[in-house]
Amino acid sequence: MGNQHKIPQATAKRLPLYYRFLNNLHIQGKARVSSKQLSDAMKIDSATIRRDFSYFGALGKKGYGYNVEYLLGFFRKTLDQDENTPVILIGVGNLGTAFLNYNFTKNNNTKIEMAFDADHAKVGEIIGNIPVHHIDELEEMMENISVAILTVPVTEAQGITDRLVECGVTGILNFTPARITVPEHVRVHHIDLAVELQSLVYFMKHYPLDDEG
Ligand code: ATP
Repeated sequence: MGNQHKIPQATAKRLPLYYRFLNNLHIQGKARVSSKQLSDAMKIDSATIRRDFSYFGALGKKGYGYNVEYLLGFFRKTLDQDENTPVILIGVGNLGTAFLNYNFTKNNNTKIEMAFDADHAKVGEIIGNIPVHHIDELEEMMENISVAILTVPVTEAQGITDRLVECGVTGILNFTPARITVPEHVRVHHIDLAVELQSLVYFMKHYPLDDEG
């Protein structure tokens, strides 16, 4: 954790992207990479990449580039790739089911371990290797779980959130349209897919990329 606080948020947000990209290079057997190559492939300008990497203590050498293995080691430690973060999912509807099947296997440190639903027809099912429990069992099943994905109907979002917080959850990925209220120590990231899609179409219509020059 320690020095992670010194990394600016914008840089921290790019960490998983860097990690995934460098991991692919590593798998391909590449030992080094230049900021120009990274820049072209990741569509991030090379000055930004060099600045980001300087926060990671990685100094690229002229004509050599960056050492892939060193960077990967750094990212792994910083992203806690070696430490497992168990995640639960609440609401096994269309979206929830898709997430269980997907289960973020590319991020090997974050795995959905349990799911909960109010519908008795879904309880007892195993989807993508993950068991579905009844929501009434939430409190007794929760042990050492700090992260939850919320895919319940909008009307249920706040009530479930309150229960999660009570159980010690400190991070919620909210896929419902609800603006949930949480205590200060709880971090919520809100992803409203309908809004994102609408916003994309709006921007395409009103801010065509060709006009921006
Ligand atoms: P989605 O919105 O993911 O496409 P859907 O349209 O299939 O889902 P929704 O009505 O949005 O269904 O409900 C999502 C899931 O949340 C359903 O499986 C439903 O049974 C479940 N659910 C509803 N209320 C609760 C609750 N209080 N606790 C846990 N799960 C709930």
